[in-house]
Amino acid sequence: MRYSLIMLAGLVLFAAGCTSIAPIPPQDPVVYGPEPRSMMLSEMSTELGWTYEPGPGAYDFTMSSPKGDKVIFRDKSDIVNINGTQWRQERDSVDRRNDMLLPESTFNFVCKHFGRYDLVHEPKRDPIGDYKLEPIGPTVSPTKTEAVDATSTVLKGLTICIDAGHGGSDPGGIGHGVQEKQVTLPVALKLRDLCTAASAKVIMTRTDDTYPDLDKRCEVANSGKADLFISIHANISPTDEEVTGFEVFYNKNSEPGALFAKALVSAMDAATNSPNRGAKKDPRGLRVLEKTQMTAVLVELGFLSNSSEASELTQKSYQDKMATALFEGVVQTWTKGRASVSK
Ligand SMILES: [Zn+2]
Repeated sequence: MRYSLIMLAGLVLFAAGCTSIAPIPPQDPVVYGPEPRSMMLSEMSTELGWTYEPGPGAYDFTMSSPKGDKVIFRDKSDIVNINGTQWRQERDSVDRRNDMLLPESTFNFVCKHFGRYDLVHEPKRDPIGDYKLEPIGPTVSPTKTEAVDATSTVLKGLTICIDAGHGGSDPGGIGHGVQEKQVTLPVALKLRDLCTAASAKVIMTRTDDTYPDLDKRCEVANSGKADLFISIHANISPTDEEVTGFEVFYNKNSEPGALFAKALVSAMDAATNSPNRGAKKDPRGLRVLEKTQMTAVLVELGFLSNSSEASELTQKSYQDKMATALFEGVVQTWTKGRASVSK
């Protein structure tokens, strides 16, 4: 308002033949971060000298090199398929009407992948894709299975929503021939059985090889008035096949979420020899942690990009061990009154 008055005054003075000019209001400096920088698919294609078009699926876009390399992005998915191999992006691709909004870090990765180091953008922010580990505090009882009983009432009164990641047309990450969806479902079903036996009310987002979208999963949890939400996934490291271990993400604004995540990593730590990568604040704004209204976590059981961990994750004994550890974390959280129907 004030500037328009100044401009009006300036115009009046200018019109009156006066040469004085109204001062230019100060501009806000450009600040990068903490959000990751974005690029449009059209910009990426132009800079690489590639082309892009919709398909092969209804939610996909394919960027193609003159030599026939193909990079496929899917709307609302953090998976990117490069010549048939899947990688996890910093965050989801987002459809923008005949174009796509993508993380700049993906562009840099594609450039390096195809040897175009000359095109890589200078970093303009701290790479929040490098997740920072948080120390695991002794906030959760380190004693292992004290509260766990195969059939009990230890979870009486709890409503828990269990979400087996991916499914159906969405295999999730793929490493060494193992699809993420093949691992998440059996662990989720085992966890369901354990929770049900302990008198919890269990809501599943899926119980077979189908794909409810992320909004649907949140809706199931919210409308079921779950106290706890646990989304089960497995990891892919795009750059390092040696990486192994489990980790649990929680909404950065949720203190109960942090405690739930810490209880889960403690239990998995006690149950396995897999490295404990910690309970971590979600840096990506994961939909299932943003849109669910209760205490929510996303568990990454291990890395399919590592051959031995991938094969371990396909074994029923290991899946049961993981499910039992998650169950113990649920029991710890519930019996200590740390579940909450609101974040
Ligand atoms: Zn996943």
